[in-house]
Amino acid sequence: MVLLQHPPIPAELLAEPMSAFDAAEFDRAVMTTYGRYPLALERGAGCRVWDTEGREYLDFVAGIATCTLGHAHPAMVAAVTQQIQTLHHVSNLYYIPEQGALARWLIDHSCADRAFFCNSGAEANEGAIKLARKYAHTVLGIEFPVILTAHASFHGRTLATVTATGQPKYQKGFSPLVPGFHHVPYNDIAALEATIDHLDQAERQVAAIMLEALQGEGGVRPGERAYFQRIREICDEKGILLILDEVQVGMGRTGKVWGYENLGIEPDIFTSAKGLGGGIPIGALLAKEFCSIFQPGDHASTFGGNPFACAVALSVCQTLERDNLIVNAQERGEQLRQGLRAIAHKYPDSIAEVRGWGLITGLELKAEIALTAGEIVKAAIGEGLLLVPAGPKVLRFVPPLIVTAAEIEQALQAVDRAIATVTA
Ligand SMILES: *Cc1c(COP(=O)(O)O)cnc(C)c1O
Repeated sequence: MVLLQHPPIPAELLAEPMSAFDAAEFDRAVMTTYGRYPLALERGAGCRVWDTEGREYLDFVAGIATCTLGHAHPAMVAAVTQQIQTLHHVSNLYYIPEQGALARWLIDHSCADRAFFCNSGAEANEGAIKLARKYAHTVLGIEFPVILTAHASFHGRTLATVTATGQPKYQKGFSPLVPGFHHVPYNDIAALEATIDHLDQAERQVAAIMLEALQGEGGVRPGERAYFQRIREICDEKGILLILDEVQVGMGRTGKVWGYENLGIEPDIFTSAKGLGGGIPIGALLAKEFCSIFQPGDHASTFGGNPFACAVALSVCQTLERDNLIVNAQERGEQLRQGLRAIAHKYPDSIAEVRGWGLITGLELKAEIALTAGEIVKAAIGEGLLLVPAGPKVLRFVPPLIVTAAEIEQALQAVDRAIATVTA
């Protein structure tokens, strides 16, 4: 891939050069919210990144399913450069043509009729929750609307979205949580129907069901077609909204533009973020026409949909289409899972299952052994491959959608060596 030649930046405009990286100094200055691996990344190109020591890694994390086009992609470089030189931020007090163009692309490539833009997955899900509540009050006439979400789901870290998230470990220490959420087991239609009936009797009626088409953070668990199709029927029968959180699986990641296309259903509302801007912060709330119940003043975001983020996201969308990256996601995903199944065959005592759609794949370790995904991630770093766990027992593979067959092969060899090391 040929990188663009950039005009040199005048020396007096350059930021002060950074001093040598000092992890201890970093840890004194930055809040202690993250557990970090002991490396600092400073440069990337395509599916590769380099750390401050000059070591090269194959990046199968991609900013956690975010860098759709990898690093320093010429289309993104061009969009960033052009838009920052033209207009980067104004306000939604005015029309923003780039925002309209991005909304048009998204609704032309999905079941949605309208889009609202924000800055992250959690913020997009907050918007979905507010839209569902407004629908419950104004259309369904429900006084205490409840949104059902799934065990092992992940919807974000704000108070409402961490309440929606069906994992107690993310909620511990942050009570009181937000009322109006109830969790049900994923892929279990009987439990869902029983919960809806039970809540109806308690006069806390269900207004919406919010799910991931494939649970990412919760262990790379694909949704079952029959489950989602029955949910769609229930929603239609009762006038309940189906909200899909497409933050991790949308934007081509699963080998379709949206994760729900794998299930043969359409949601009423869905959200996007991670892959949408290819690594530039942007989120989107997308919905069918009923979303016009949102009136001017009902919802807003200062940065949401600014010219910069929208121009870059649009370049990601157009590149996805022009370079057939969704087909690449299908083919490279199949190649990866085939290779991982061959590796699983070599370590039958350690590996339980390989699963996924397109370029989101999980390798699950046997529950009865002590080995964790985190230990393999550390060994893989030593082999020049970046991976991220999805829970304690699942290794997650979410490379950029531009990944090549040779890079998949190289990653497979590195995983094999890493597993050999930790099981030796
Ligand atoms: C990452 C993620 C979120 C949260 O996105 P942020 O941008 O971190 O707020 C929400 N839902 C899903 C499914 C995610 O994977």
